[in-house]
Amino acid sequence: MKRATLFLTLVLVFSLFAFGGIIDTIKARGYLVMGTNATFPPFEFVDAKNEVVGFDIELARAVAKKLGVTLRVIDFAFDGLIPALQADKFDIIFAGMTITEKRKEVVLFSDPYFDAGQVIVVRKGYKHFDDVDELTNEKVAVQTGTTGDLMATEVPGIILTRFPHFTEALMELSLRRVNAVVIDSSTGEAYIKFNPNLEVGSPILSAESYGAAIKKGNEELLNFVNQVLKELKTSPYDALLDAWF
Ligand code: GLN
Repeated sequence: MKRATLFLTLVLVFSLFAFGGIIDTIKARGYLVMGTNATFPPFEFVDAKNEVVGFDIELARAVAKKLGVTLRVIDFAFDGLIPALQADKFDIIFAGMTITEKRKEVVLFSDPYFDAGQVIVVRKGYKHFDDVDELTNEKVAVQTGTTGDLMATEVPGIILTRFPHFTEALMELSLRRVNAVVIDSSTGEAYIKFNPNLEVGSPILSAESYGAAIKKGNEELLNFVNQVLKELKTSPYDALLDAWF
């Protein structure tokens, strides 16, 4: 009897090591792997030193730091990010990814960390659009698989071209091969800063929130990330209030 108990205990301890959670796996590996699409300034983009930098990178770095590991960033096509996450190519996606019902069917999303919305970017002085429906008969470029793509796809009679990267969509616009790009507002503004021939030609057309995406089953990592986001959002003053009252 005692021997059996000892044996069972050993089996249990062994299986805990063998099937440790995702957090143990990351810690043992020594780095957190983040998937992103680095044509989405200021969230992720390639800087002059050829490094991927941006707001999302800093968020992921805060998660890695709290785990006591380093961060590895993998730059991927946006519409390939979720399939690659499912195939364990990364632990987490930080890609200015909008939390949608459809995506929630296949991945877990962290608490929202940024409010966003789509806008229409045009060449300066081209036209002003009050609504996305006014893109009927217009040549429009989007990045494949984005919420901007989904929104534009709904417009009857739109002449839509999809590109793997926003850089290409905006290049087409500058080259006059299309007349509009549907893009997230903060990223649209960031591109305009470097392309003075472009401007935002619409109000904000949708209400979206970004979340980090994590593979289903990795709830342990999800809770950890939510905790880090919460700590980042809490000011030192709030922390003092919490501690003393
Ligand atoms: N927020 C948009 C989406 O989730 C675009 C994100 C991106 O292109 N990186 O589809």
